[in-house]
Amino acid sequence: MTFIVGLTGGIGSGKSAAATLFEQLGATVVDTDAIAHALTAPGGAAIVPIRAAFGDEVIDARGALDRAAMRRKVFADASAKARLEGILHPMIRAEADRRSAAARSAYVVLVVPLLVESGGYRSRVQRVAVVDCPEEMQVARVMARSVLSAEEARAIMAAQVDRQARLAVADDVIDNGGELAALRPQVEALHRRYIEMAAVS
Ligand code: ADP
Repeated sequence: MTFIVGLTGGIGSGKSAAATLFEQLGATVVDTDAIAHALTAPGGAAIVPIRAAFGDEVIDARGALDRAAMRRKVFADASAKARLEGILHPMIRAEADRRSAAARSAYVVLVVPLLVESGGYRSRVQRVAVVDCPEEMQVARVMARSVLSAEEARAIMAAQVDRQARLAVADDVIDNGGELAALRPQVEALHRRYIEMAAVS
């Protein structure tokens, strides 16, 4: 059986940065956000069922999911979010399972931004690693990397579980409250442990 480490953390905490380091060390990284994007890109497998459920108006001229149009629908009709997730989540899980099973590395890092919130992933991973930093740092990093305002960043964070709830389910905590350079030694130490754990699992 593949040894799977669930990697999570709030928006802007540094999940992608940590995942890149794991990948450089030789771990297979399966990113559920990347899978969601591929499924909803032009020609993606989720486009046909999404079009059938919500109509042409949520598909853009390129044939991709029109996120702004979908957001407006969800805003106007709360059940639309659950219906969209009902289409996407099983497809994301199936693709994540497929990629994890195909991995040839000692272990797999499964990046799940909402691992704590979505419950279903907890039982699919052998270990939960949380990337942690102070909430104000998350806001600053999100603002620096994107066009989101502080209010928008805080609104996204408010919809996610808080720092303590995430830390409460962590088997391993990656402290990203310092310099980016401080991530590498922590990831290297975890990489060695995960190889050992995978060997005896
Ligand atoms: P996530 O994937 O959790 O949303 P990212 O890894 O994309 O977070 O990090 C958010 C932003 O902050 C990125 O632009 C990243 O380069 C930057 N960043 C991550 N960790 C640090 C750090 N320790 N110091 C400074 N910037 C960082």
